[in-house]
Amino acid sequence: MRLVTLRREDGTTRAGRVEDGEIVELPFEDVGALLSHHPEWERVAAEERGPTHDLATAGLAQPILFPPKIIGVGLNYVSHIQEMGNETPKHPILFAKYARALTGPRDPIVLPRVSDKVDWEVELAIVIGQEARHIHPHEVTRVVAGYSIINDVSVRDWQMRTGQFLSGKTFERSTPLGPALVTHGELLYPGELEVQCEVDGEVVQQGNTSDLLFGIVELVCYLSQIFTLDPGDVIATGTPSGVGAGRKPPVFLKPGQVVRTSIEGLGELVNPCVAEE
Ligand code: ZN
Repeated sequence: MRLVTLRREDGTTRAGRVEDGEIVELPFEDVGALLSHHPEWERVAAEERGPTHDLATAGLAQPILFPPKIIGVGLNYVSHIQEMGNETPKHPILFAKYARALTGPRDPIVLPRVSDKVDWEVELAIVIGQEARHIHPHEVTRVVAGYSIINDVSVRDWQMRTGQFLSGKTFERSTPLGPALVTHGELLYPGELEVQCEVDGEVVQQGNTSDLLFGIVELVCYLSQIFTLDPGDVIATGTPSGVGAGRKPPVFLKPGQVVRTSIEGLGELVNPCVAEE
């Protein structure tokens, strides 16, 4: 199943199920509300039926409007560790983003007033579907709702100001998520997906989730040792090589450029860059 969050003309949002090129409305404000509604959310999402909308022209928000947690994993592809000149981490490097950092799959990326060093990072996003604490590897499939794409847009000068990445990772309306939550049934091997980012049509990043240093199962188990994972939590699993900061000389996003991030089987995010007003 592919689940999206639709922006309706009256300014409200609704969760929706993608079916034959249409979005079928579900009686929840967003996919996050659906996930936290009931442990059997998948059955509910498959059975409910409301008004329909054309998928190609519908306004889409990020599937989860306000994730309880957005957890970033830094330096999780060997190729990216090398380009950034870092040591291979012994444990996952974790940081947070807050919900206001998110934006929709076709929305602008807002380039903040205070920086001209904004960079792209295509990543596989894991979305949690059930509460999970101290789980075992064999339980991961049960607690993960599915997968999506996140562009972990990073404001490099702010990210590197101190030892903590947070300030460069959570600028408002910087981080596209979507276009859909794709559930297990549609995606057999999330650990073997092609990952790509283009800026103005030029391919800048190309990788495969099979190259993740800490993989999906390991990350979900590790995080569940720290806190309870909640329905709607989003884990950004890290980016492959090809970020602007790793180039010589470094390259950063400018207003008017269009960033297209895609992952095999999950669709794409297409986002123009705009300067903050
Ligand atoms: Zn990242």
